[in-house]
Amino acid sequence: ELVNLNEMFNFVIERFEMLITSNNMNYKIRKEFTRRTIWVEVDSDKVIQVLDNIMNNAIKYSPDGGEITCSLLETHNNVIISIADQGMGIPKRDLKRVFDRFFRVDKARSRSLGGSGLGLAISRDVIQNHGGTIWVESEEAKGSVFYISLPYVPVEEDLWE
Ligand code: ATP
Ligand code: MG
Repeated sequence: ELVNLNEMFNFVIERFEMLITSNNMNYKIRKEFTRRTIWVEVDSDKVIQVLDNIMNNAIKYSPDGGEITCSLLETHNNVIISIADQGMGIPKRDLKRVFDRFFRVDKARSRSLGGSGLGLAISRDVIQNHGGTIWVESEEAKGSVFYISLPYVPVEEDLWE
C-alpha cells in the first residue's frame, strides 16, 4: 500500500523511546527528517519489521547512553533511511557477511546478547523485494550506520514545488 514513510518511521521510533524509558535505559534518539512527506509503495508490516530489527540492533550492539540517529532524506528517485549508532561497530571483513543467514560477528559475545543472526538476512530480503537496497558502513569501536534506500513515489505535493 501507499505509506507515509515519515509517519511510519516516527511510529517505530516512538515505540523504541517508550521501550528505552520503561527499561530505565538512557539511549538518546535523534531525528533528522526531511520536511517533505515521503510516500512509498510498501508492505508496511514488513518494512516496520525491518526498521524494528535495525533499531533493535542499534540498541543491542551499543552501550547504554549512546546516541542513535535516525534520518530520512530523499534523492531524485529514492528515499534513504539511515540508522546510526555509537556502538562496537563491525570489522571490515564482516561488513558484507552481516546480511548472511545466521552470521554473527564474534559468536561468543553475540550469544550472550541473544538472537539468531536472521534479522538482517530477513531485512535484506524484504528490502530487495521492494526494489530497494540495504547496506552498512561501520568503524570498529566507533559505530555503525545502516542505510536503506527505497523507490520513492513522487506525489502531487512535490510536483507543485
Ligand atoms: P536476530 O536474529 O535476533 O536479529 P542478531 O541481531 O544476531 O539476531 P542480525 O540482526 O542479523 O542478527 O545481525 C547479524 C550480526 O551483525 C549480529 O550478530 C552482530 O554481530 C552484527 N550487527 C548487527 N547490527 C549491528 C550493529 N548495529 N552494531 C554492531 N554489530 C551489529
Ligand atoms: Mg538483530
